[in-house]
Amino acid sequence: MLQQRVCVKIQPHFQGCLYLPSGPFAESINFNQLNFMSSSIQSKLPGAGTTIFTVMSALASELKAVNLGQGFPDYPMDESLISLVNEAMHNGCNQYVPMQGYLPLREAIAEKISFLYGNSMNPDSQITITPGGTYAIYTALTAVLHPGDEVIVFEPAYDSYIPNIEVNGAVAVRIPLKFPGYTIDWQEVNKKINPLTRMILLNSPHNPTGSVLRERDIRELRDLVKGKDIIIVSDEVYEHLIFDGIPHLSLLRYPDLMEKSFVCFSFGKVYHCTGWKMGYCISSPQWMEEFRKIHQFNCFSCNSPMQVGLAGFLKNREPYLSLGSFMQKKRDYFQDLMKQTRFRPLPSYGSYFQVYDYSGISDERERDFAIRITREYGVAAIPVSAFYRDGTDHQTVRFCFAKKESTLETAVERLIKIK
Ligand code: GLN
Repeated sequence: MLQQRVCVKIQPHFQGCLYLPSGPFAESINFNQLNFMSSSIQSKLPGAGTTIFTVMSALASELKAVNLGQGFPDYPMDESLISLVNEAMHNGCNQYVPMQGYLPLREAIAEKISFLYGNSMNPDSQITITPGGTYAIYTALTAVLHPGDEVIVFEPAYDSYIPNIEVNGAVAVRIPLKFPGYTIDWQEVNKKINPLTRMILLNSPHNPTGSVLRERDIRELRDLVKGKDIIIVSDEVYEHLIFDGIPHLSLLRYPDLMEKSFVCFSFGKVYHCTGWKMGYCISSPQWMEEFRKIHQFNCFSCNSPMQVGLAGFLKNREPYLSLGSFMQKKRDYFQDLMKQTRFRPLPSYGSYFQVYDYSGISDERERDFAIRITREYGVAAIPVSAFYRDGTDHQTVRFCFAKKESTLETAVERLIKIK
């Protein structure tokens, strides 16, 4: 029998598709009682708006404000990396590389991991090049999660995490980091673990707060996941942006944790080219196979000439080894300048970011405050409340200090005026 597919929404309880026989029966239905959905979609992320980064960057550019909101450098990247990519294009590297990524790049990454974290990764089976760190995280979550699975996520949480969980039908179990140090309450994590817990999402150095995982966190994590079927996704895109001599405790250092993890990285953060959208993910061979099943039908393979350029450039250790002290100088310079303002710093040990408390200035909500200072004083920041599902508001904003000194100076000259 011929059928027609009719999408209907009968408020408020039912929304979906009916398959109706065509012919006289269909005509007997009073379609006026139905709210037709044939030209709209049922949102998978009904609560999501446009990301705060896009909102604040658009406002900053509209108002010609200094943009210390979205995290990206405003100084030039290394010319020799640009030349390597140019060369690759001129040399004809303009067609697809393998789905997993350009092999010499994966080999260079394996060499870097072994040098930095003392463990060997198989470039064939354990490393996949991705269009950015956010995509690597999304792909890992999508490879693992099924409807109803629970994922432990710490708030403030980078704004893609919870939507990535929910788009897969899984449930975000939100645990606040302890304010104001933004450390993990492991007792609380322990309480939240149950048979539905499928994953823990970690991020160190942490966006937006600049907190970092310490040895005691690794011990707690190890005790917690031991013998349990829990997968870790570790967002380590700021691995080199870590200050004050603190080591980056990549999960790749610990074979027992590594074998339970997907670890995600970004070239944009390392080589000052966030717009290139290049990153990679590392996992065990068997899990990487699942990751690649998703990746191959989404992006398939990333930008070829950039992979060729990066493969050559990555062999030079100096740029990534000097990155921590380069960025620490920017943090210190910014913190010093900010002493002239009424903002009060919370600690930042890593990332591009520093959270400031403005409670001495205003009792406005964070979003209103961030928008007002962009409009009235010409400096854009990110409200930390955007990283909490329930909008938790500590009267803090996040500033990005990955900027030229002159940019930081102009911003602070303006922020001083806020009384
Ligand atoms: N990671 C950047 C930040 O936190 C933004 C990236 C984006 O806009 N998606 O500011």
